[in-house]
Amino acid sequence: MTASANFETQPRAIIHVDMDAFYASVEQHDQPKYRNQPVVVGGAGGRGVVAAASYEVRKFGVHSAMPMTRALRLCPQAVVLPVRMSRYRQVSAEVFSVFRESTPQVEGLSLDEAFLDVSASLALLGSVETIGASLRAEILKRTGLHASVGMAQNKFLAKLASDVGKPKGFVHVADDGVRSFLDPMPVARIWGIGKQTLPKIQKLGILTIGQLRKADPAVLKQVLGKRTEHFLALARGEDEREVVASRPEKSISREVTFEKDVSKPKVLLAELQAQVESVTGRLRSQGLLARTVQIKVRDPRFRTVTRSLTLTAPTASTQVVFKQARRLLQKWLGEHLNTPLRLLGVGLAGLESSAEQGVEIDTTKQKALDKTLDAINRRYGDGKATRGLAMNIGKK
Ligand SMILES: [Mg+2]
Repeated sequence: MTASANFETQPRAIIHVDMDAFYASVEQHDQPKYRNQPVVVGGAGGRGVVAAASYEVRKFGVHSAMPMTRALRLCPQAVVLPVRMSRYRQVSAEVFSVFRESTPQVEGLSLDEAFLDVSASLALLGSVETIGASLRAEILKRTGLHASVGMAQNKFLAKLASDVGKPKGFVHVADDGVRSFLDPMPVARIWGIGKQTLPKIQKLGILTIGQLRKADPAVLKQVLGKRTEHFLALARGEDEREVVASRPEKSISREVTFEKDVSKPKVLLAELQAQVESVTGRLRSQGLLARTVQIKVRDPRFRTVTRSLTLTAPTASTQVVFKQARRLLQKWLGEHLNTPLRLLGVGLAGLESSAEQGVEIDTTKQKALDKTLDAINRRYGDGKATRGLAMNIGKK
């Protein structure tokens, strides 16, 4: 066989890392008086939702996504702490930099969870267990927090492995141990078998993954239809999906050349705001934060100037970026009175992953507005929804 065919059939080494009770653990780490206490992180108000629950409070049946009122009925002595997203992002960035020291093949699932394909790192760094153990130790050393690590030949098994080990899990599903690992598990553990499908499978007398694996495909088909083969493959522990590395962009920018040179500050600011909406929306959709804000201007004599500034903390907020971009533009306009602009642009650089694709509980109206605008823009195409000032641009 050729080398490439050989390579494709080589077993992969996939690691799934998931921080234990992430937001709650960060709070317990930062505020030692809450260690070993039942802690819930989330909104305390009437409509508040539990964003994270410490292991101490989970004993009472409290879990994330639960209404706060219900959580407090289950555990009235629970300590309720507000969400500090910027702090979690900071810790997350540290955790992800540990991941990227093992392999560039890192697929972030949320702030605190990722798949790593370390197949190509084995020769250099040792066995998958060696890499998994050093990931866990390094995360603990740098953040003071515990992670659960699952290791296996594919994503499905690696994620199950980290799940069953929680907290402080360390589970390696060896290639010859797949059946003994999977077979006793309840069928509900299989991805995609939800509330609708589960009772139908159970009606067939199938309660474990092992029973599903051995079931008659013809009988299964009546219940699972087209998905039968997919679920059978998972029951055998087969999952071909690749780890898709999130490749962060170096910069995100947008610029426009005006049909007629523009000198009215109001019009320029409206355009600037529309551009900031666009670039920060892209930033958020990719789970990134920016450290540097830049504007670009070109005058009628084709002189192009860029001005930039570095933020004290990375951000994805439209408001924060616009404030700084406006400052840069107003400064330039102040220094070049009555000079019309031929081109105006805004750029974001110093990008870093917020590794954030998962659940986020918004605590401010600003963020909620950013998200709503993003959703509208995704639905109707970029630029349809903007704040008040940018709306003025059509009127000139
Ligand atoms: Mg987690």
